[in-house]
Formats: sequence, structure tokens, C-alpha cells
Amino acid sequence: MKTYKVAIIGVGKIVEDQHLPVIAKNPRFQLAAVASQRGIEVTGAPTFRTPAEMYQAVPDIDAVAVCTPPQVRYSYAREALDAGKHVLLEKPSTTTVGELLDLRDHAAAGKRVLFTTWHSQYNAAVEAARRALAGQAVTYLQINWKEDVRRWHPGQKWIWLAGGFGVFDPGINALSIVTHILPDPVFIRRADLTFPENCDAPIAARIEFAAARPFEHLGADFDWRQTGEQTWEIEIGTAAGNRLKLAKGGSRLDIDGQLVAEEPMAEYEAIYDRFATLLDDGASLVDEAPLRLVADAFLIGKRITTDPFYD
Ligand code: NAP
Repeated sequence: MKTYKVAIIGVGKIVEDQHLPVIAKNPRFQLAAVASQRGIEVTGAPTFRTPAEMYQAVPDIDAVAVCTPPQVRYSYAREALDAGKHVLLEKPSTTTVGELLDLRDHAAAGKRVLFTTWHSQYNAAVEAARRALAGQAVTYLQINWKEDVRRWHPGQKWIWLAGGFGVFDPGINALSIVTHILPDPVFIRRADLTFPENCDAPIAARIEFAAARPFEHLGADFDWRQTGEQTWEIEIGTAAGNRLKLAKGGSRLDIDGQLVAEEPMAEYEAIYDRFATLLDDGASLVDEAPLRLVADAFLIGKRITTDPFYD
């Protein structure tokens, strides 16, 4: 089995927390280099200030993981594809649907693998929910994704800029679960987006979804102002009368009050296993559904202004 030489672009929190340790223990990958604007050094691989310098100095890199903020991901991904590299995209894949579709087409034209990772999809409980919902009619959906932005994103300026997604940075994780497990698509019918008066990205969002089939209630509440206990839950009801509850960010599933699946999170381990399979098969995996829901929320959303936010 081939070992792929992988490089990382942007050495921030998620790279330190997940990508570096997960690559280190996966025999299918070898960390070949990192590109870091600040020149952050990592163990066992050279650092370059730009991807261009990295590609020139280490020409046998097979693939890159683009782990920057979303606003700059498209240009780094396009440059990597042009350099002949396969590309793994951190979530959210790009800032616009148009950018993602262009990357998909460009990767296909160059016969490169493009992989949109949505880490919350890689949980045993999420897969169990998907299986349980197969062939069912969903009549009820309520997403409650409420956390304390100061706790999870301290000092991250990009998240409050246009294209930084604001509360949709975590919210898109919930949407990536929902688009993965629901047997039929939901659409955005109404979105109330609450922006701090000094920010270009929302701190809260309330969404009403619609669906092609009759339903009782389909909604989502995203809020970054929740202190104390943090809430990452999705409740789903079916026409057959079953009630599913995904809790703890999608790592625990209860059906009709009975625990069905709960395993420790190993999302990034599963992501890199999947990437190895995609590389072996020369197959891309481009899932634009979560991004499209967020784009539609911004397209149709009503803007509400609230108090300024200071970190
Ligand atoms: P972060 O800590 O702010 O790190 C992002 C890194 O990207 C920076 O440290 C910087 O590293 C590099 N970078 C390149 N161009 C940049 C620019 N124009 N502005 C700012 N940084 C730039 O962010 P993060 O939390 O790791 O998140 C990165 C991505 O991963 C986001 O899309 C986020 O949604 C996703 N993600 C984060 C988490 C989490 O728990 N934090 C979880 C899952 C997914 P260099 O100086 O080394 O270039």
C-alpha cells in the first residue's frame, strides 16, 4: 500500500489539535512539509513561508490539506491543483458555492482528487442515524447548536470578517450532519441573522427549513452567546412516530429514549482513512450541500443588528 506524502497549509488550532497527531499515527501518510505564513515549525518536516516555495523545494508532495480560514482556501487549493497535488479541504470548504464548484471541475479536469471534509459526519452515531432514517419520512427537525464563542474561538479575527461564517462556522457542522443523514433534502425558507453592529458575520441565526413533503416543524437555532453548558443537539421525528436525538456534537444517538450509539470522537482519524481510500481510487468526494444551505441562509436572510462584540 502506498504511503502518501502530505503537506499542510496553515498551521493553526485545528492542525495542532488534529491534523498533525492524526497524520503522525496513520501509516498511509507521511508529513512532508508545512506552509506557514508565520513560519511555525513542526516536528519531522520542513516549514516554508509560502506553498510555492514548498512545492519547489519538496516536489514529491502528493497531497495538501488546506487548513487556513475559509476566505483564502480557494486560492491555495487552486494553486495546489495547478501544482499537480491532490487536495483535502478543511470545512467550510470555500466561502462561496461558485468557488467550490470551480475547484471540483478543475480537479476533475486535472485528474486530481478533491476531498471536502465535514468532520462532524465522521461519527458512528451519525452513521447509525443515517441508517435509521433511510426510507423514512422526516416530519420534525430541530437543531440546537449553541456555544460560547469566547471559549472556542478566542482571538480569531477572521471569523468575524465577511466570509468568516460567524456562528455558521460551528453551525455548518450541524448542517453537514443533517444533509448527510436526512433521506430527503431540506431548503431554507426563512433565516433571521443577528449581526453584532461591529462585525460582518452573524453571532446568532434562527432558521426555518422547508421540504418537498408535508412536515410539522423543521428549524435550527445557532447561537454563539451561550455560556455555561454547551449545546450541540439535533432532534428528528419521523412520520412513523420515531424520535431520534443526536447529542454531543453527533457522537451520541438515542432513538425513542434508548441509547443506540455512543463512541469517543475519532473524526479526523476517519477523515484521513477516507482520504487514503480516495487517493487509492483516484476518486474525488465533493459534498457542497452544507455550504449551499449556509449560502441560501445568507441569500434569503433577514439581517438583525445587535450589541457590538468584543473578544
Ligand atoms: P486558526 O487557529 O486561526 O488557524 C488558521 C491558520 O491559517 C493561521 O494560524 C495561519 O497559520 C493560517 N492562515 C493562512 N492565511 C491566513 C489568513 N489570511 N488569515 C488568518 N490565518 C491564515 O483557525 P483554526 O481554528 O485552526 O481553523 C482553521 C479552519 O479549520 C477553519 O475553516 C475552521 O472552521 C476549521 N476547523 C476548526 C476547528 C477548531 O476546533 N478550531 C475544528 C474543525 C475545523 P500560518 O501562520 O501557519 O499560515
